[in-house]
Amino acid sequence: MVVNRIVLRFSPPLVEQPIIYRLVKDYDLIINILKADINPHKEGFVVLEISGDSENYNRGLDYLRSVGVEIEPLSGTIHWNRERCLQCGACTTFCPTGALYLTRPEMEVHFDGSKCIVCESCLDVCVARAVEVRF
Ligand code: SF4
Ligand code: SF4
Repeated sequence: MVVNRIVLRFSPPLVEQPIIYRLVKDYDLIINILKADINPHKEGFVVLEISGDSENYNRGLDYLRSVGVEIEPLSGTIHWNRERCLQCGACTTFCPTGALYLTRPEMEVHFDGSKCIVCESCLDVCVARAVEVRF
């Protein structure tokens, strides 16, 4: 059994093909789409968590490469600096997984690294530079 998080990058001709569907149907993989930016006729990417039998997983990745999808491992980890954080909450509205989140009614910002998919959406919105990627 393999569980892995990867980034797939699609060229414009690939964006409209049912590639994720094929991973599920032909390779019996369980796909959790963590983040996606796909637009017709443009390059796109998806961040996936893929799980399944290891042989199927490798065959599935071979299939992706054979059709021209670029595969990147999700690398690095996000470090949240509590002392630098201004508690403005801006990052929590951009975080797709709830890794950066607000508790109520205190309205305090917290970080749960186990939920972070290193999509880096929080980096640009943090004026205090309280979040950074570490490799
Ligand atoms: S990189 Fe930032 S926005 Fe993306 S999941 Fe991790 S904490 Fe959330
Ligand atoms: S955007 Fe930065 S300063 Fe604002 S709550 Fe998030 S980590 Fe803290």
